[in-house]
Amino acid sequence: MELNKKGYIRLAADLQTDSIVDGPGLRAVLWTQGCGHHCRGCQNPQTWDFNGGGLVPISMVKDAIAELEYHTGLTISGGDPMYQVESCLEIAKYAKSLGLNIWVYTGFTFEELLKLSKTEPIYLEFLKIIDVLVDGRFILEERDLSILFRGSRNQRLIDVQKTLENKNVVLFDEQEYLEQGKFKKTPMFI
Ligand code: SF4
Repeated sequence: MELNKKGYIRLAADLQTDSIVDGPGLRAVLWTQGCGHHCRGCQNPQTWDFNGGGLVPISMVKDAIAELEYHTGLTISGGDPMYQVESCLEIAKYAKSLGLNIWVYTGFTFEELLKLSKTEPIYLEFLKIIDVLVDGRFILEERDLSILFRGSRNQRLIDVQKTLENKNVVLFDEQEYLEQGKFKKTPMFI
């Protein structure tokens, strides 16, 4: 499903470096371009076009990530990062090597990605370095402004490493996160 030439990623915007709504703490956000899900009520329809946005060398994205100083993590959103899995994997690996945690938003479900990984193992490779996967399409009828870090109730915050270890979906512990009292509960749309 990779769409671009090697060494490049198609982005909808420059690396955002000031997000506090796309996962815990201060985060950088990589807004990938291209999404085939076309969810009704999507907040970012300008990111659907697979030829839109701009092609950016991965080395430039890495340079921007290397300059981050006070960040907790990198969130990869879009669009849908899974259409550029190879590029996203390379960037996520680099960010992780610098100590950033990795959150990824996708319209695919975790189960769909596991199925895809049977023929394209790179999906499993990507999952293996993701801390939290926010999965599933945005469903307008299930929209909920009160839930943490996602837009509709069908979407899950999946603790990917525990899920792979247990071979059963384990959710990110929202209660523990909220009880830390460090962060305000903030709803999020993808
Ligand atoms: S909500 Fe997300 S998955 Fe759905 S169309 Fe928009 S960008 Fe794609």
